[in-house]
Amino acid sequence: MNHTESAKAFERAKGFFPGGVNSPVRAFRSVGGDPFIVKYGKGPYLFDVDGNRYVDYINSWGPLVLGHAYPSVVEAIATQAARGTSFGACHELESDLAAVVRELYPSLELMRFVNSGTEAGMSVIRLARGFTNRRKLVKFEGCYHGHADVLLAKAGSGVLTLGLPECSGVPSQVVSDTLIAEYNNLDSVERLFAECGDDIAAVIVEPVVGNCGLLVPQDDFLKGLRRITEKAGALLIFDEVMTGFRVALGGAQALYGIQPDLTMLGKVIGGGLPVGAFGGRRDIMEMLAPLGPVYQAGTLSGNPLAMVAGMTTISEWRKPGVFESAERTTQSLVDGLRRGAEAEGIPLVADSVGTMFGFFFSSTPVRSFKDTAQADKAAFNRFFHAMLEAGVYFAPSAFEAGFVSAAHAGEGLDYTLERLSTGFKAAKN
Ligand SMILES: *Cc1c(COP(=O)(O)O)cnc(C)c1O
Repeated sequence: MNHTESAKAFERAKGFFPGGVNSPVRAFRSVGGDPFIVKYGKGPYLFDVDGNRYVDYINSWGPLVLGHAYPSVVEAIATQAARGTSFGACHELESDLAAVVRELYPSLELMRFVNSGTEAGMSVIRLARGFTNRRKLVKFEGCYHGHADVLLAKAGSGVLTLGLPECSGVPSQVVSDTLIAEYNNLDSVERLFAECGDDIAAVIVEPVVGNCGLLVPQDDFLKGLRRITEKAGALLIFDEVMTGFRVALGGAQALYGIQPDLTMLGKVIGGGLPVGAFGGRRDIMEMLAPLGPVYQAGTLSGNPLAMVAGMTTISEWRKPGVFESAERTTQSLVDGLRRGAEAEGIPLVADSVGTMFGFFFSSTPVRSFKDTAQADKAAFNRFFHAMLEAGVYFAPSAFEAGFVSAAHAGEGLDYTLERLSTGFKAAKN
């Protein structure tokens, strides 16, 4: 592949942005080399400025469940743009999207739209503390809930990819009430509650973790969190920014049958435009301004472009058979990864939940953040680059989940499966 134009464009970007990027993982620091520069996306593919095509398993890090530039989504955005892009005032599209969200997530008795998952995270924590009048939070090592200060302790995603155990600029007092537990280990949670249960406002969790690779909840882990929090009068917050509409239409709460007190949504809910949301129990949500004393606001929150993009995306995604088909595509991909690795004698654990998938170059199961240390990062990096050169774009980090869209069935998947052996052969050396 020729990357001349990408190299030029990335040099130019470095003159404007730290590391040439507006979000760190895009910079390929973990896998080495420079990123390609996107010209446009269509269906399951990204095309770069040199004219190379890639099957895209990132899908904007999750949002694009229908693939790039899905015609009805493009049309809905264009139609709405002609009628105004933001009003800073109430309009009906907000309730239209909210109605769809609540139908799929009945635990969101009331909700509020924001502009990113990060905003949802910082707001939901403030709300949980305001409602319970308690200070402490429990989060899990390797989980990522956006880049608000209070949640940047032992975080996943780019924090992990770049090997930043603590984030510079976050004063230790700000995270001193953020307690860290181990995912899939209820004992670690029980211990924290035994020590300071009366002061714990909330437990926040990615119910299926996607920010240190894919970690699947074992046995009764999520049920246990519900039981422990309920008993201690603490709130259970599901961060479904990634899992929402992905592991099931109704998210992990529908898939595992658990009702959290509060939920964060993002990514898919905006259909590729910047949106987040948080919501939950009415009595808690009524603490928010203007009804209550917990302040939260946003100039572009609930803007009509994002609302129509989200609504159109979700209505297509929930049509009979669409999700199921994408789920089967995901399973075929994971089967292909397992078979491809086995054929080359490479130890690999690969899994999927709904349309989220992940794989580790590891010979033992990976169930918690601690287990990810066993994964062979160098092998992943070789695999990543060989696949990229062959026109298949997996996340540029051994610690990120992957995403399949409805557009990947057929040609995109077949092309990928045919090239996996190239990737695994490269991973071996
Ligand atoms: C992506 C993500 C966030 C942050 O969302 P942004 O829109 O990037 O701010 C929060 N939580 C989880 C689980 C995520 O995957």
